[in-house]
Amino acid sequence: AHLVAGIKLSDREHTAVVVDFAGNRLAGEAIPRQPGPMTLPELLDAADALLTRVCASAGIARDALTAVGLGVPGFVDAASGTVHWSPVITERHLPLVPHLTDHLGLPVHVDNDANLVTLAELWFGAGRTLSDFAVVTIEHGLGMGFVLNHRLYRGARGIGMELGHTKVQMDGALCRCGQRGCLEAYVADYALVREAQTALNLPNRDTLAVGALLESLYDHAKAGNAAARSIFHRAGRYLALGLANVVNLFDPGLIILSGDRMRYDYLYAQETLSEMGAMMLDTGRPAPRIEIHAWGDLLWAHGAAALALQEVTEAALDAA
Ligand code: BGC
Ligand code: ZN
Repeated sequence: AHLVAGIKLSDREHTAVVVDFAGNRLAGEAIPRQPGPMTLPELLDAADALLTRVCASAGIARDALTAVGLGVPGFVDAASGTVHWSPVITERHLPLVPHLTDHLGLPVHVDNDANLVTLAELWFGAGRTLSDFAVVTIEHGLGMGFVLNHRLYRGARGIGMELGHTKVQMDGALCRCGQRGCLEAYVADYALVREAQTALNLPNRDTLAVGALLESLYDHAKAGNAAARSIFHRAGRYLALGLANVVNLFDPGLIILSGDRMRYDYLYAQETLSEMGAMMLDTGRPAPRIEIHAWGDLLWAHGAAALALQEVTEAALDAA
């Protein structure tokens, strides 16, 4: 049987799936990891270990794989297979695809992680019938994928639709990309944790993982702690600003808010939507639909597999 694998690399865990040519997921595995950027050799080993693990979990021979799709956070030029910047990779402007193809002995295709969640929604999910929609992912970073006129939009240099790094404040909060005032520096998990550490006197980030700090922030907010609530409130307002800009620029029919963090959307979603309404251009018609999908990393990896399927299919058509 011909199968493809999809891999998602991220801060807290790496995830891999095996998918058949009908898009069915046959296996899925996640390997937890210490946050922080990887060197190229570490990344190659991680990808290799993931493939071995996910194939073994379902009794699939590795040589049944035809291709691999890989989702990476950061600025990825999918056409050339280059990762210009990623929070999980130490090097900049890394030509990742040739290295991985060599190391894994399989054709590899890479794209931005949020683009691949969007591809999953386009192929298998809510986007199947839509011409224009956005998927905004809110987790450790803030990502977006955008389907414009039925196609994933990537831009002239492959880094289009980086909503997380659109600027919402002059000389603002420091972003993990190195610049200031980026939307994600107000909305993403690490931004919330950074604020919580000062406002709530939570333990230092070095002694407790970001995930645990975030859980503790949620607990405080759920229990009604005013400082914790106001952290979510502010993040919600910035998110509203970012989403209103997306609507005013691209006019999507649907915006999917996606990611693990969406389990806690009730802490700020209502406020976000009403703030957003006030900032959108008035067309006299209903605002875009907003859906909340609390998908985990398996869906992101499934999107990476969809990329591999797409590339394999296109290559076959070209050859015919
Ligand atoms: C990165 C995006 C990525 C998002 C979600 C952001 O920090 O810049 O490229 O899609 O995090 O992982
Ligand atoms: Zn940034």
